[in-house]
Amino acid sequence: MSREYLKKATLTPKSDAGETKKIVRAILDEIEAGGDDAALAYARKFDNYEGEILLSQDAIDAAIAQVPEKLKHDIDFAHANVKRFAEAQRDTVANFEIEVVPGLIAGQKAIPVHAAGCYVPGGRYSHIASAIMTVTTAKVAGCKHIVACSPPRPDVGIAPAIVYAAHVCGADKIMAMGGVQGVAAMTFGLFGLPKANILVGPGNQFVAEAKRMLFGRVGIDMIAGPTDSLILADASADPMVVAVDLVGQAEHGYNSPVWLVTDDRALAEKVMELVPGLIDDLPDVNRENATAAWRDYAEVIVCADREEMAATSDEYAPEHLTVQAEDLDWWLERLSCYGSLFLGEETTVAFGDKASGTNHVLPTSGAANYTGGLSVHKYMKIVTWQRSTREGSKPVALATARISRLEGMEGHARTADIRLRKYFPDQEFD
Ligand code: NAD
Repeated sequence: MSREYLKKATLTPKSDAGETKKIVRAILDEIEAGGDDAALAYARKFDNYEGEILLSQDAIDAAIAQVPEKLKHDIDFAHANVKRFAEAQRDTVANFEIEVVPGLIAGQKAIPVHAAGCYVPGGRYSHIASAIMTVTTAKVAGCKHIVACSPPRPDVGIAPAIVYAAHVCGADKIMAMGGVQGVAAMTFGLFGLPKANILVGPGNQFVAEAKRMLFGRVGIDMIAGPTDSLILADASADPMVVAVDLVGQAEHGYNSPVWLVTDDRALAEKVMELVPGLIDDLPDVNRENATAAWRDYAEVIVCADREEMAATSDEYAPEHLTVQAEDLDWWLERLSCYGSLFLGEETTVAFGDKASGTNHVLPTSGAANYTGGLSVHKYMKIVTWQRSTREGSKPVALATARISRLEGMEGHARTADIRLRKYFPDQEFD
C-alpha cells in the first residue's frame, strides 16, 4: 500500500482492563450474594440515587408529561422507522422444513428468547435513541418480557425522554439503575424481574465488562468499546460536510476514533484545516471530548486510488462507515467490513444513530470483522427439529449404529438398534 498518513493516532483505545475487571467482579459477586439490597447500595454509591427502582405507572405518566410534544413526535417517528426496519429483518428469518431422505423431515424454527434486558446508557448523555433501538427490536422479535434499564440522575431519576421512548417502544418494566448494578439486576432477576435471557445495549467500560463476565449464563448482543467512524471521501466530497461529520462523531468520547480516508490530498488538507474551528465551536463537554478524540485518536490517510481506500477501510473495520464519493454502487459492492454503511452525502451517521431505522448498536474496535450490529436475529434462537416415518428412519438408524460403534458409543448405537428391531422384525441388519 502506498498510503500516506497526514495525521496518525498517537493512542489506540484500550481500557484499564485489569482494574475494570477487578471492580466489576467484586460488584457482581456482592450483588449476587446480597441481592436487591446490595444493588440498591451501589445505586446510592455510584448514582447517588435513593428513589423508585422499578417505575410505577404513575411515575411513567409523570415523566411522559414532562416531554415536549415535538420531541414525542420525533421519538414516535424514529420508533416507527426502527420498527419497520426490524419487521423486515424478522421476515427474512426463514422457518423451513425439507425432506432430507425419503420419509425424514427436518426443519428450522426461530424462537424469540423470553426475557430481554435492554441497557440504555445515561451517564454522560441521555441516550434516548438507545432505548428506541434496543426495546423496539426486542419487541418486534417477539420477546415476552422486556426491561429497559438506565442510570438515574440524583433526585431526578431517568431522563423523562428515555422513559417515554422505552414506554412507547414496548418496555414491560423500566428500571432506574445504571452500570454493573443494572446489568446484574436484570441477569439475576432482582426486584421481582424475570431473569434476562439476553442483555443488549451499549454502555461504558463497566457495563461492557459486566456483560463479558456474565456471558454464558445470559446471552449478550456484543461487547461494545468506544464508538468509531470512518469516512471515505473523494474529490467530489464537500470538505465542510466531511469535517462536520468527523467532528459530530468525535464528540462521543475522548477516545472515540474518527478516520478520514481519501484519494484527494487537497480535500484532506482542507478538512484538517476546518476541523479545529468546528470543535472549538461546540458546547463545553462535547468540545472536550472532540478535542481529545481528534488530537489523540484521529487519522487522515491519503491513498493512491479508490481500491486502496476500500482496502484500508476494510482493514480498519469501522463501526460506522460513510462514503462521500462517486459511484456509490461500486462502494456498496466492494466494502465488506463495517457495522453500518452510510452511502452519499444525503445521509449521515447521526441519521442512523437516531432516526433512520437501522440499528445504532454496532460492533466497535474491529469487531465488524466478524459480526454485524443489533438486529431482531440477536433475540432469536434458531432451533431445529425432525420427525420421520418408520421407513425413513431405517437408513439413518443403520448409519447411526455403525458410526456410533466406530466412535465407541455403544449406548448410542443401541438406540438405533432397538428401532430397527422394533420396526423391521423380519429383517437382518449388519
Ligand atoms: P453508562 O450508562 O454506560 O454508565 C453509567 C454508569 O456507570 C453509572 O450508573 C455507574 O453505575 C457506572 N459507573 C460510573 N463510574 C463507575 C466506577 N468508577 N465504578 C463502577 N461503576 C461506575 O453511561 P456512560 O458512562 O455515559 O457511557 C455510555 C457509553 O455508551 C459511551 O461509551 C458511549 O459511547 C456508548 N454508546 C455507544 C453506542 C453504540 O451504539 N455504540 C450508543 C450510545 C452510547
